[in-house]
Amino acid sequence: MDQTSKQKLASRIDPIVDSYGREHRSLRISVTDRCNIRCFYCMPENVKFLPQNSILSFEEIRQVVEILACHGVNRVRITGGEPLVRSEIWNLVSQLKSVSGIDEIALTTNGILLSDQAQKLKDSGLDRINVSLDSIDPVKFKEITRRDALDKVFAGIDAAILAGFDNIRINAVSVRGISETEVIPLVSWAQQKGLHLRFIEFMPLDGDKAWQDQQVFTGAMMRKIIEEEFGTLSPVVRARSSQPSVDFQLRGDGPQIGFIDSVTEPFCSSCDRMRITAEGKLRNCLFSTEEWDLKQLIRSNGSVEQIELLIREGIRHKKLGHGSDTGRFVRPDRAMYQIGG
Ligand code: SAM
Ligand code: SF4
Repeated sequence: MDQTSKQKLASRIDPIVDSYGREHRSLRISVTDRCNIRCFYCMPENVKFLPQNSILSFEEIRQVVEILACHGVNRVRITGGEPLVRSEIWNLVSQLKSVSGIDEIALTTNGILLSDQAQKLKDSGLDRINVSLDSIDPVKFKEITRRDALDKVFAGIDAAILAGFDNIRINAVSVRGISETEVIPLVSWAQQKGLHLRFIEFMPLDGDKAWQDQQVFTGAMMRKIIEEEFGTLSPVVRARSSQPSVDFQLRGDGPQIGFIDSVTEPFCSSCDRMRITAEGKLRNCLFSTEEWDLKQLIRSNGSVEQIELLIREGIRHKKLGHGSDTGRFVRPDRAMYQIGG
């Protein structure tokens, strides 16, 4: 963006608001649909990935983030697919870090390539890392991810701690019939390592389209199992009203445990998130069935005003709730790895 456009934008900041008054402050940007494992709840074993030239370049991503930052978006999460398979992702981090108005850059990863990249990511200015890990048992890990890579994830987490990331969160998707045995070992391990563990309910966003509501291992069920083993969980006041997890403190002053009960207790009323897919489509919700084509506009030299208008149009169409807890739910065509979790 040239200097004049930036000045024009800065002089008329007004937040991006949907038709229910929710101001949008947070962007999740998917940088690839590729991945080095195949979690059954996300990606099919055989998958046709997007061609390289249809994926937004770092420069194109930066252009959109600059526009959004001028309208109150101050937090960016880099995701995918697996963001660390994108070449030199730390260069994107440092580019976004320099965008005025962006206060926090975070990244969600499966951790497999983290041992090589943690220090570069830290040096480039990355503020936070979430690592997804559903089991600390190698056999179960392989059953879930269809790959044998648990040691690499552990090495990645240790490298991130060594690099100085002090607020690492572990995200564990929980599926009924699979995860019951994983809850206690994960909690014990996370408490020992001093890591903030969050359990996520299995959402109907799997590439195989095999999700069934009986497979939702609810946050309430998990809390019961944890309390039976470790004692009462004390609720913690939310740091930010838009945060998706409800956090609890386990006895003493150990790390918190969070629950993202997206299916049974959706948190849509305080949602401030928008998403951009790897091929540059704006989505106003994980469960949206509509998308707005930013890439097409960027690549046809659309003006800053046109891009802003398209973003506002997409957000204006955001529904009050995704409805996955109701009988009126319409499942989106795209799976999690295609959207960016
Ligand atoms: N590959 C990276 C990773 O796994 O952390 C980033 C992308 S992944 C799509 C982002 C998050 O979505 C991960 O924490 C993953 O466990 C979660 N996820 C994927 N499919 C899901 C589903 N069907 N329901 C709930 N969470 C899901
Ligand atoms: Fe890959 Fe993340 Fe999807 Fe697992 S959840 S298949 S690591 S993109």
